[in-house]
Amino acid sequence: MNPLDNAIAQLENAAKKLGLKPSVLRSLKKPKKVIKKKLQIVLDNGKKKVYQAYRVQHNNWRGPFKGGIRFHPESNINEVKALALWMAIKTAVANIPVGGGKGGIEVNPKELSKTELERLSRAWAKAMHKYIGPKIDVPAPDVYTTPEIMAWMNDEYMKLTGQKNKGTFTGKPLNQGGSKGRDVATAQGGFYILQDLVKTYKLKKPSIAIQGFGNAGMTMAQLCYRAGYKVVAVTDSKGGVLNARGLNIDKVVKHKETNGKLKNFPGSKAISNKQILELNVDVLIPAALDNQITIKNAKNVQADIVMELANGPTSNQADMVLFKKGILVIPDVLANAGGVIVSYFEMVQNAKNVYWSKSEVLSKLKEKILLSWQQVYQEAVKNDVNLRTGAYMIALNRLLKAKK
Ligand code: NAD
Repeated sequence: MNPLDNAIAQLENAAKKLGLKPSVLRSLKKPKKVIKKKLQIVLDNGKKKVYQAYRVQHNNWRGPFKGGIRFHPESNINEVKALALWMAIKTAVANIPVGGGKGGIEVNPKELSKTELERLSRAWAKAMHKYIGPKIDVPAPDVYTTPEIMAWMNDEYMKLTGQKNKGTFTGKPLNQGGSKGRDVATAQGGFYILQDLVKTYKLKKPSIAIQGFGNAGMTMAQLCYRAGYKVVAVTDSKGGVLNARGLNIDKVVKHKETNGKLKNFPGSKAISNKQILELNVDVLIPAALDNQITIKNAKNVQADIVMELANGPTSNQADMVLFKKGILVIPDVLANAGGVIVSYFEMVQNAKNVYWSKSEVLSKLKEKILLSWQQVYQEAVKNDVNLRTGAYMIALNRLLKAKK
């Protein structure tokens, strides 16, 4: 399913429940601005190459547009639009005073040298600098973009505009105005919710499978492993590893650092990105790309809980199947909101030029995300809908209140 169709279907489910007028629904669906630019850079061999770049500013009724930049060969305008819409919902669910936006470049960053990557990152900032700023639109990292890339972009932006406030980009390195805890925030936010579920359902040593082993997935694997949960399988873009008795995640991380992939981790069996979704585990955590659980494989999902650290991993039709099967889906707009919550904390720290300790950041994050979780759960129960529709209903009400 096209991610944009998916995002709109999810929005429509909640709008229907709330009885919104078609004109209001249209204003919530439509991005405020879509910016497309061609970026030309000189490669190390002296040849020139052009890349397609995007920024979609979906909604700023609650504050400046906010959302990551994705570097991926399959990035496309529909995906960026969907991701921007999800950001507008997510920031409203988390009740932070920012809106929703997203950016991207159609590129495989693994094929670029570090200097080429820097030139491309600076080119994005140059092409977009008129449309962004601490009070206008604040980008952040996403798939295959790193704190270093944010530092290059922020530096380019500050050079071009003469701005001194470092808060135009978040997810920066600590010595460039980054926030402590931002590196672990996405997984940590989801983990606080997971801990609450483990306690509520009295799960003893829950079994966990995680698709994606980057910022979100690897950090989540580490948190689960250190809490004594049994992480039985993890995958990255090249496939992954399974051990029914549980993987030693510290050793898996070292293996990936040394070999550049998860495959062939000693004592494990190989598992594909498709197979991991159908494992008989307590908790399945998609933490890579969108559209992974679809109408084709939803019936085969055996987990009791699906915690969406990735954006858009479950299609709207698959959602209905999972709901009917009694599988609890913690939706992306709540489960992975920890990243944008701490990005917002980074904006606050940059504006005040005062920096908080990691424990201060994480305790504020915990309080915020657990409150959102409680509100989403209550809204869903009250309206007899799934958690996703409950989350959207809260978000739409907050957005419309802000607009008014
Ligand atoms: P990342 O670049 O750090 O890691 C991406 C991971 O996905 C890597 O392990 C990569 O190997 C894997 N991957 C790539 N293509 C794949 C494929 N076809 N099949 C399976 N795995 C594949 O990115 P990240 O920041 O961890 O982002 C992962 C997901 O989490 C994305 O959906 C992103 O939008 C979402 N997310 C990230 C943040 C954040 O703060 N980083 C916040 C909210 C949501």
